[in-house]
Amino acid sequence: MFKNNMALLAACLSFSANSTSFDTVTLGSKGGIQDGNLTAFLIKGENDKNYVMLDAGSVVNGLIAAEQKGAFADLRLPEGSPYTRVGHVLNDRIKGYFISHAHLDHVAGMIISSPDDSKKPIYGLEATNQALMDNYFNWSAWPNFGNEGNGYKLNKYDYVDLMPSQWLAVDGTSLQVMALPLAHSGGQSTAFVLKNPAGEVFAYFGDTGPDEVEKSTAMRKVWSTLAPFAKQGKLKGMVIEVSYTNETPDKSLFGHLTPNWLLKELAVLEQLSGKGSLETLDVVVSHIKYSLKNSEDPKVVIQRQLAEGNKFGVNFIFPEQGDSLQF
Ligand SMILES: [Zn+2]
Repeated sequence: MFKNNMALLAACLSFSANSTSFDTVTLGSKGGIQDGNLTAFLIKGENDKNYVMLDAGSVVNGLIAAEQKGAFADLRLPEGSPYTRVGHVLNDRIKGYFISHAHLDHVAGMIISSPDDSKKPIYGLEATNQALMDNYFNWSAWPNFGNEGNGYKLNKYDYVDLMPSQWLAVDGTSLQVMALPLAHSGGQSTAFVLKNPAGEVFAYFGDTGPDEVEKSTAMRKVWSTLAPFAKQGKLKGMVIEVSYTNETPDKSLFGHLTPNWLLKELAVLEQLSGKGSLETLDVVVSHIKYSLKNSEDPKVVIQRQLAEGNKFGVNFIFPEQGDSLQF
């Protein structure tokens, strides 16, 4: 009897370990132009209590939307905490920012919330961190909350330069991270791969153009890094951008993807990891540009265009601001 219970318990434990590996909360889902809903995701390992943030276009606004949707309902405020739930998440539970590139729509929320934020690292490729200190935290655009850069340093944010293709343990979490450069219309952007203690990974892509248009091999390099994980069923999901519909000509992509280009890129991953390896893979589509035009919602068009070309059996997901997702 005892033995049976133990077996049952073991089965339950392994089931729960396999069912969810990463938790995310969408703090901002759009790729411009809607201030207050710009690219930002929280992510944590399933057994972690702390998050990190993947890009930071919208922070407090996203946290408020997420709280209203119950994303933090299970989270207990410490006794005597001076913070609201939103304040507690920002100050105590977010242990760092991973910034893909310094474009304003990926960092605006972090800059605006910085006066009431807690001390934490900003992780990025060297060029990204340099751009943050040159362009924003410089006492001209904004006070210098960093530990490097122009003038008096308020030392709230510690810049951590990530070495491409190397794993680094993320302080305050059980995760490791690897940064891989992406090509973004002549500029550099970044893909972050997060790995949990079970060796499972989740990939987050900052803005990126397709290799063919960018005349680059950056995407292929990311796919080669992910392929061994995809082959073993250890690629739990990804967030990747589709900014425009298929009607957008290549010359007007400015370092972004369309449904056709994402499908072509996924074909490279499938080719490297084996036919059928992407079946049921969760692919979160981000950075769809908010439209002011009185025509069909680009999100609906992109959903349809991706579905039409989905020969991989991939599970495309289109979260709204505040939505929680498990992978
Ligand atoms: Zn960009």
